[in-house]
Amino acid sequence: MKLRYERPYLKKMNVGVMNKFGSRSDFQPVKFIDGVSVKSLTDKYGSPVFVLSERQIRKNYQSAVRSFNTRYPKVQFAWSYKTNYINAVCNVFHQEGSWAEVVSGFEYHKAIGNGVAGNHIIFNGPEKKEADLKLAIENDSLIHIDHFEELYKLIDICEALNKKPRVAIRVNMDTGIYPLWDRFGFNYENGQAWNAILKIVGLGKMQLVGLHCHIGTFMLSTSAYAIATSKLCDLAMKCKNQLQNPIEYLDLGGGFPSTNTLKGSYLPGVDTVPPIDDFAEAITTTILGYGFQQNELPMLILETGRALIDDAGYLLGSVIANKQLSDGRRATILNFGVNLLFTSFWYDHHISPAQDFTHYTEETILYGPMCMNIDVIRESINLPLLSPGDLVVVHKVGAYNMTQWMQFISTRPAVVLIDETGQTHEIRQAETLKYMEIPESVPVHLQHKK
Ligand SMILES: *Cc1c(COP(=O)(O)O)cnc(C)c1O
Repeated sequence: MKLRYERPYLKKMNVGVMNKFGSRSDFQPVKFIDGVSVKSLTDKYGSPVFVLSERQIRKNYQSAVRSFNTRYPKVQFAWSYKTNYINAVCNVFHQEGSWAEVVSGFEYHKAIGNGVAGNHIIFNGPEKKEADLKLAIENDSLIHIDHFEELYKLIDICEALNKKPRVAIRVNMDTGIYPLWDRFGFNYENGQAWNAILKIVGLGKMQLVGLHCHIGTFMLSTSAYAIATSKLCDLAMKCKNQLQNPIEYLDLGGGFPSTNTLKGSYLPGVDTVPPIDDFAEAITTTILGYGFQQNELPMLILETGRALIDDAGYLLGSVIANKQLSDGRRATILNFGVNLLFTSFWYDHHISPAQDFTHYTEETILYGPMCMNIDVIRESINLPLLSPGDLVVVHKVGAYNMTQWMQFISTRPAVVLIDETGQTHEIRQAETLKYMEIPESVPVHLQHKK
């Protein structure tokens, strides 16, 4: 085969030492995902395209369940819908035995549509509309109260419906991680959480069955979970001993990190992020050591999101052009930007070429195609020379990108699931202009004359 032409360039040599871009990386082209060729995926579904590996999702889920099941007798996972609520994805988790954790009426209805039993839906979040609360009560869902306004509103609704819903409160607390996440739920240290508990139990209009916290996201500290767990255990013990209201479950929320690399970290995420086993150890040792009687151990609920799906997602895209910036650096423009890759604001995503290349690499800045200055995918990455039309694979994009993507100057691409047998399924079609314009209408006096 004829070798590809590569333009000549000058490069400063740094032999053996780590420079500000990290240690030298050995690039390998990534031509296949779960045995399916990258080229065949973009040929069939277009470029860019999101790709998810069902095999990896199931593997992550089963491994996380094992981390907890081998340490604690009663464990239940609930899939965090906002992390990725494409129905096919949610159904993989539900098939595996996961409940649903939703934070809005929109997500609540999605979970119902996915066939999740009402009593297996956890309803979180600061905004629950009255109609959604009523539906959640009728369905016997677990309502996690976020603030006093909501508590009083629920009491009103309970009276009107003459129902006694099962509720929990969300608790925020100092876990040694700053800034504190104290905007959601009731504070532990200043007594607000206990005050809310007293009101719920005292009025007797609702059954207080759980205590919930979600202390942050991409948490690197396992001890923060031990502190959070002991604070929830403390409230649970007081509920039992002082109010004769035993707590059925403790929900420790989500927040375990994926193996992505945070911007500004010196070492890659795979080397620095604690494994789920370590979080499981911190949480379960705390509950088991707290002094509950064996038959009164609360069920442990986890709402893990990003750690279960990030590394199962890929974004495939193409090079549009290379440019030289005024300081001499190479800039490469890709056909996807922060519109599709919201997480590039805080991760240094690993990006691989999808075809063979020579061993020369160059510091490159990766831009997206948006007409705005913030559209930067990587400020600095060492990459082989790429040519227009070459394909790239962005790794670990399964969490939050397919829910936080924005529709700006262009439509969103297809999402494809590779199942465990290697078959591909388009689980969300590429959007079209027609689809985007369905909700629009132009008043008669503004319509153009045909
Ligand atoms: C977002 C969220 C989660 C999932 O968080 P991850 O960091 O993705 O694990 C879980 N619970 C609640 C209440 C959330 O808001």
